[in-house]
Amino acid sequence: MDIHEYQAKEILARFGVPVPRGGLANSPEQAAYRSDEIGGEAWVVKAQVHSGGRGEAGGVSLCHSDRDVARAAGGLLGKRLVTRQAPAGKLVSQVYVEEAAEIDRELYFAILLDRASEQVVIIASADGGVDVEHLAATAPEAVVRVPVEPAVGFLEFQAREIALAVGLPAGQITPASRIFRAAYRAFRDLDATLLEINPLVITHDGDLVAADAKMSFDDNAIFRSPGIAELRDPSQEDPRERHAADHGLSYVGLTGNIGCIINGAGLAMATMDMIKLAGGEPANFLDIGGGASPDRVLTAFRAVLQDDNVEAVLVNIFAGINRCDWVAEGVLKAFAEADVKVPVVARLSGTNVEQGRRILSHSGLPIIVADTLADAAENVVAASAAGRPAADRVTGGGLR
Ligand code: GDP
Ligand code: MN
Repeated sequence: MDIHEYQAKEILARFGVPVPRGGLANSPEQAAYRSDEIGGEAWVVKAQVHSGGRGEAGGVSLCHSDRDVARAAGGLLGKRLVTRQAPAGKLVSQVYVEEAAEIDRELYFAILLDRASEQVVIIASADGGVDVEHLAATAPEAVVRVPVEPAVGFLEFQAREIALAVGLPAGQITPASRIFRAAYRAFRDLDATLLEINPLVITHDGDLVAADAKMSFDDNAIFRSPGIAELRDPSQEDPRERHAADHGLSYVGLTGNIGCIINGAGLAMATMDMIKLAGGEPANFLDIGGGASPDRVLTAFRAVLQDDNVEAVLVNIFAGINRCDWVAEGVLKAFAEADVKVPVVARLSGTNVEQGRRILSHSGLPIIVADTLADAAENVVAASAAGRPAADRVTGGGLR
């Protein structure tokens, strides 16, 4: 789960990371009022959306009067901000007004759960402000990576080494390592999966301040940390994923045209691979979990078909706790109640597979029953490309 910048800054401040003074506003008048309240001579007005890259998208404005502040807020509120990370745009319903920092240098600092190395890794760079993918691609030597041993934690000497590595002078090593370790405590205590401060600013006065902040949390651990669940903002989430989550289904939205109804994350991954191997692109995948009733399968169809890009559906079930006959009945129910207009390919295996296949093949419905996963993938890719001119067909490109 992602949260807004202002929420991440509130958390960081609580753990001892210095952040600029600021206030939230949902109207231009309130934004101007906030700048008066904060005082000073310059402010930044920042769109609160769950996306980075706001600066280059016009979502961050430096202002020198309260009229400027009101105008900047008015230009953002109620609009959708389109960023590199959110091409469909995200609704701006709040802006955050902050005292502007006088920036001498911008550093990059992040803590993340690195799934490849199965460790928490601290990443830092002397070149902040730009995104880290860009940094890693253009100047990999400028990026410091420090793994954290979970049993030992993030140690003082490691924090000092990072401060040295990003080129901080002697007088700033201690305050910087305090900030790094405070950020780590926030990350660890709240079960975060990502904490990014970009930029961590050095001001003209030599102070260190978190000018931007981003945090994401492990959904499965949110129940442990009081107050974190309340930070959720459904207006910023993928509506397709929200619909599924509201029904207790786990759904992942992708960019292709094949909808996938599967049980289990491992089978989902294998299915994605097989579809790609057959030259197709998944639009999404939905995990129905174990012991799924026909109604649950119907709900899964509804969620998958909500995505207008879906041109064919693949049902791939390896039934252990599940029952193929129930899944098959669910598919029939979907045809009866969910207005299925796209080709459906089903591959069933495991518990009650004979009954399941019989139900599908005797249904009189246009369902392609496949024997193997490879077979199913080829069929569904062919079905999704059918009925459109060849020039238009998906040929297995990458993420858009
Ligand atoms: P992002 O583009 O979504 O990552 O938003 P940021 O909060 O990182 O802001 C983008 C850029 O705006 C930063 O890299 C800074 O260069 C600039 N910026 C942000 N806050 C301030 C500020 O207080 N003062 C000044 N002068 N520039 C700022
Ligand atoms: Mn930033």
